[in-house]
Amino acid sequence: MAKAEETILEIDLKALINNYQYLRSRIKPETKFMAVVKAYGYGSDAQEIALCLQHIGVDYFAVAYVSEGISLRNAGITKPILVLHPQKVHFKVLIEHTLEPSIYSNSILSDFILTAQEMDAKDYPIHLKFNTGLNRLGFSAEELPEITKLIHNQDIVKVIAILSHLAATEDVNETEFTKLQLKRFDFICQQVDATFKSKPFKHVLNTSGILNYPQAQFQMVRSGIGLYGYGNHPDVDMELSPVATLKTIIAQKHSIPSGESVGYNRKYKSNSETITATLPVGHADGIGRQYGQGKTCVLVNGQLAPIIGNVCMDMIMIDVSEIECSEGDEVIIFGKGLPANDFSQTAQTISYELITGLSQRIKRVVINN
Ligand SMILES: *Cc1c(COP(=O)(O)O)cnc(C)c1O
Repeated sequence: MAKAEETILEIDLKALINNYQYLRSRIKPETKFMAVVKAYGYGSDAQEIALCLQHIGVDYFAVAYVSEGISLRNAGITKPILVLHPQKVHFKVLIEHTLEPSIYSNSILSDFILTAQEMDAKDYPIHLKFNTGLNRLGFSAEELPEITKLIHNQDIVKVIAILSHLAATEDVNETEFTKLQLKRFDFICQQVDATFKSKPFKHVLNTSGILNYPQAQFQMVRSGIGLYGYGNHPDVDMELSPVATLKTIIAQKHSIPSGESVGYNRKYKSNSETITATLPVGHADGIGRQYGQGKTCVLVNGQLAPIIGNVCMDMIMIDVSEIECSEGDEVIIFGKGLPANDFSQTAQTISYELITGLSQRIKRVVINN
């Protein structure tokens, strides 16, 4: 572990490898593993994460947008990369970087075929995404005849895979709904197998899907949050380790007399002498105001210290009255020792939002590479 001398996001590649191996152990050896590295690798560092995972044998990568795929290609990622939500204006560069689009509507499909034709593509690999109940992106089953018309008797694009996305794999109260989504997907798969010449492979599970519905792993699974150390379940979290740890230092300590206030709008008022520490991290870094006013704690020398008053743009103040600490000491905001899901829960949000919301201003430091 690096000792922080400023605010850093420490990215532990050993933790990443551990998480990958655990998730792999939960699926069949022949099932392909797609690592989801969208949104800067869930706020960490997509290039470093993808290079490490490519090295240890991950089969496939997924990003949300074309620019994210290009950045992986520029970093030396040669494995297939699926773009989950490509926009028409980027089709040409998508093809130039051999990225695979997830196609979700007939108009997107015809537009893509046109661009691919202009670029003299042959059997260009595409994935078709079907909506089975998330109601976000995807073809409906009823559109199959029209899709078939568009893709038959052409060799410009080739449907190599079909996919869907599940709405609530982590929620045990929604098991019936997840099973219904999987049934709808099965029905689509059967239709596709009966009509498509290309015999596409299938993928539908995200991290919690891998853990809770392994019977639906098909030929590939797509995991994001689990790789970064969060399994949406306490038993799984025991097996995983946080990849990203947000660390900072105590910039200054203050002794606040009783009756004084701390920070903007005087939202903290001391009713006895209070020792505070000021840390160089704030809402511009992704630690939003919802974490202030005593709701959330950080770790100072192994002890929890609440964030007091309003979170500022570049700073937070914490109460260290009961904690032995000095200026320059390291503070863990979240990560190892204080998981992002615990931290985020204090403000009614989820690990996904907290970790992907970290600003690019924070220096990334890779360890165990
Ligand atoms: C983000 C995303 C995933 C990854 O989900 P996790 O819960 O992070 O494993 C998988 N599939 C699609 C379509 C996604 O958008």
